[in-house]
Amino acid sequence: MSISENLAAVRERINGAARRAGRSSDKIALMAVSKTQPAERIREAYAVGQRLFGENRVQEFAGKITALLDLRDAEWHLIGHLQTNKAARTAELFRAVDSVDSQKLAEKLDAAAGGLGKKLNVLIEINVGGEAAKSGIAPDSPALDELLLAAPRLEALVFRGLMTVPPFTDDPEGARPYFRKLRELRDAIASRKLSAVAMDHLSMGMSHDFEVAIEEGSTCVRVGTAIFGARTKA
Ligand SMILES: *Cc1c(COP(=O)(O)O)cnc(C)c1O
Repeated sequence: MSISENLAAVRERINGAARRAGRSSDKIALMAVSKTQPAERIREAYAVGQRLFGENRVQEFAGKITALLDLRDAEWHLIGHLQTNKAARTAELFRAVDSVDSQKLAEKLDAAAGGLGKKLNVLIEINVGGEAAKSGIAPDSPALDELLLAAPRLEALVFRGLMTVPPFTDDPEGARPYFRKLRELRDAIASRKLSAVAMDHLSMGMSHDFEVAIEEGSTCVRVGTAIFGARTKA
């Protein structure tokens, strides 16, 4: 199957899941996760209308971007764990960081984006499964509150919602309680009407479980394998 056919098939599945959930599919963004994909495969997706892309490593993307500068309407998001020493480069290269997992990182990104006179959209990554090997802030930790309360001060950052990668289960249904938990957390934060914190976005769902995520309220599914095929490296 070509990238074009895969994209069409994924969109069709998004529409089906939205219909089942009684949701409008224009509220659900499809992010093509292009990590490990060479520039020409990204171009192929762009050529058939894909605009939103997710990359998980700053260095890898920095090596590809020069070959992609003519894709003017492409929107690049960082979705992987970020070390604070790469905040400056990240603010230059990306429109959004969907994996902000500490206040320290948020502060570095704010300073970097502010220095460039740029706004950076951000999502807070939540470790819904409490897995030691995963990044993200624990849902009930004081660190989450501190970060939310710091938002008005971080003027170059636009807080837009939450993101998660749930524990892996073979059966996509296994992810449902975690997706639901993220939605409930989002609703709880939204009801506090905190200053400078919008909670419109829920980035959740990947190739094997995005339909379940949509049923649980996802506004952005991050799909790699189902679009580009199996990755050869991590
Ligand atoms: C790789 C990756 C994805 C996409 O995973 P697939 O299973 O290939 O769809 C989504 N989100 C994050 C954070 C990733 O690192």
